[in-house]
Amino acid sequence: MVKKEQDPALPVMEHFYTLQGEGFFQGQAAYFIRLGGCDVGCVWCDVKDSWDANKHPLYKTADLASIVKTTPAKIVVVTGGEPLMHDLTELTLQLKDSGFRTHIETSGAHPVSGTWDWICLSPKKFKAPLENITGLANELKVIIFNRSDFDWAEKYAAMVGQACKLYLQPEWDKAAEMTPLIVEYIKANPQWQLSLQVHKYIDVP
Ligand code: SF4
Repeated sequence: MVKKEQDPALPVMEHFYTLQGEGFFQGQAAYFIRLGGCDVGCVWCDVKDSWDANKHPLYKTADLASIVKTTPAKIVVVTGGEPLMHDLTELTLQLKDSGFRTHIETSGAHPVSGTWDWICLSPKKFKAPLENITGLANELKVIIFNRSDFDWAEKYAAMVGQACKLYLQPEWDKAAEMTPLIVEYIKANPQWQLSLQVHKYIDVP
């Protein structure tokens, strides 16, 4: 956890205005802030450049909020990396003061900081979530890389709240193999929904 300062700086790998490609808000415009730093170590990670926080420039939280304000964005998605490796209290204060909805995508492997309108929990076998995040999740998104991930998904579905949305998403490189299995799984277990990485199909970041 990064020590809280008055106007803390966070390592930012990239930031961009695009459409949310995944999950409940799929298709909606959103400003993405991808923070550097991750110690989860997923073998299939598609953003391994994010892992080393020291490789990425530091941005003051007030400056990040100012950048987002130059766009018509209503939603800001903070992702990573694993964004909860950092204290996000001040960032979310700045974003909410500016009128944005604050969304986070996290593995849940570090304590929650910040004030969030939407928490997407994506638990990873490589470093399991901390227990107290499951009750806070608005959305559970499990990446299906192999068949055993369905059991992993059910384990966390049993831990989240009743209103939490449940998504299964094929790992991108395994999509041809896993998507048909996911389709059959959802037909048999209709509490789940399919999440596709639509941004990759329409070629936006
Ligand atoms: S948690 Fe996300 S950023 Fe970290 S290794 Fe896994 S997929 Fe990559």
